[in-house]
Amino acid sequence: MDEFDGLYQEVILDHNKNPRNFGRMELASHKALGHNPLCGDQIEIYLYVENNIIKDVMFNGVGCAISKASASIMTTVLKGKSIDEVNELFNEFHKALTSRPDEPIDTSKLGKLAVFAGVREFPVRVKCATLPWHTLMEALEKKDSILKME
Ligand code: ZN
Repeated sequence: MDEFDGLYQEVILDHNKNPRNFGRMELASHKALGHNPLCGDQIEIYLYVENNIIKDVMFNGVGCAISKASASIMTTVLKGKSIDEVNELFNEFHKALTSRPDEPIDTSKLGKLAVFAGVREFPVRVKCATLPWHTLMEALEKKDSILKME
């Protein structure tokens, strides 16, 4: 993977190798399985939501370095956030990754997620990075679901 420059690549490789919050959650209030046939990524997201706050989040599955790192980093930023805050973060992340490569990105709103900003230059990889987020939104919306990215 020579697509990313130094530091960002390191962060992504680290999360791929040592994914955070990885495994199954027994008592999930919401879950969804996301599938990106283009790359073969299959990521399952588990949530425990109480009073509109994400109390706990885990993920499981197989995928390329970008989808796994994206899921791992996502789980580290979600805990304690309200559903409204999660929606806002999803919108910012999605907007950044689907923007044109010459458009400026407001990384202050992205926090740790800014490591994926460079992915927008590789359209085939955008679905890998956004899969965990689409799966998260699917889980929040339908509680138990399967999502196939088209
Ligand atoms: Zn992928």
